[in-house]
Amino acid sequence: MSTISELKELLAQPRQIFITTHHKPDADALGSSLGLAGYLRKKGHSVTVVTPSDYPNFLAWMPGNDEVVVYEPRENDAQVRDIIGTAEVLFCLDFSCLGRINELGEYIRNAPGTKVLIDHHQEPEQFADLDYSNSKAAATAELVFEVIRDLGDQNLIDTGIGECLYAGIMTDTGSFRHPSTSRNVHLIIAELLSAGINLSDVHRRIYDSHSEERLRFLGFVLKDKLTVLREYNTAYIAITADELRQYHSKTGDTEGLVNFALSIEGIVFAAILIDRPQAVKISFRSVGDFSVSEFSRRHFQGGGHHNAAGGISHDPLEDTVQRFLGLLPHYQTQLVTAPLAITPP
Ligand code: 5GP
Ligand code: MN
Repeated sequence: MSTISELKELLAQPRQIFITTHHKPDADALGSSLGLAGYLRKKGHSVTVVTPSDYPNFLAWMPGNDEVVVYEPRENDAQVRDIIGTAEVLFCLDFSCLGRINELGEYIRNAPGTKVLIDHHQEPEQFADLDYSNSKAAATAELVFEVIRDLGDQNLIDTGIGECLYAGIMTDTGSFRHPSTSRNVHLIIAELLSAGINLSDVHRRIYDSHSEERLRFLGFVLKDKLTVLREYNTAYIAITADELRQYHSKTGDTEGLVNFALSIEGIVFAAILIDRPQAVKISFRSVGDFSVSEFSRRHFQGGGHHNAAGGISHDPLEDTVQRFLGLLPHYQTQLVTAPLAITPP
């Protein structure tokens, strides 16, 4: 962990700043990026936020969204390489290893500017010059709040910046229900309320702005695609590329589905496996002691947090499901004896 004075010194003069976050940004990824960008712009820096891919429409309300450059390898590669190559400071938010952002990761690794990591995932890669990671934090947005506060600039957190940060904390804590929801989290929310944020508006924009089609898709998934394996306290969902097409699934439409599997009484381990063009993308969730980050790291080239992680498989969907099912007997003892509650960090 670097000291805040190192960052203060780095930002003591107006800088050319690049901010990026993980592939398929979620509310914490985009909210922490745009919250930080809003703050840095107020300090007189020139800031460009680049996302490695597109992101759901329900995040487009965030102030600064219109200036985001979405990286498209075949369209704006030269422009993005130029932004990265000329940046004096490169912030990497809400991801811990450069391999997770495809080509952009290599551009960043080779960039001459100072790299700053702010993240809350486990086992961060050591690529940054300054590192403000903390895997105990509930959200990267929580860490961004602390960085701004510790730089002595909490007064610059206005409603817009505050709502970006709130969105990140709200979603990554599962609306304040995960064990990561510490006293510190609630104290920060109190500060954001003082900055004028509207909690209900943020909640509505994120959770109550889906298309009718997405709701029908959810109905189909819950009715036909959910498998419950009582002997392993596990439930999973597998979705084919055809099914995604059939329901005109858009970026963000599958987000949160895995939580329905986990919401069944007695289920401690849930997974969703989705046939995406590049690979099968898998999301894991658990309650209690069973570490999905470890499971994902060991078997699916992934990682994340203790109770929420993800990974990929380059095998066809059906083979991936079979491999997943084949692993469960090895974890049966853990899955059936796992206490439901873990001590908060
Ligand atoms: P989600 O399932 O919502 O995509 O991700 C859950 C958590 O796991 C997030 O914190 C996310 O950053 C992390 N995660 C998701 N996919 C991957 C992956 O392929 N590799 C790693 N290292 N982390 C992942
Ligand atoms: Mn996060």
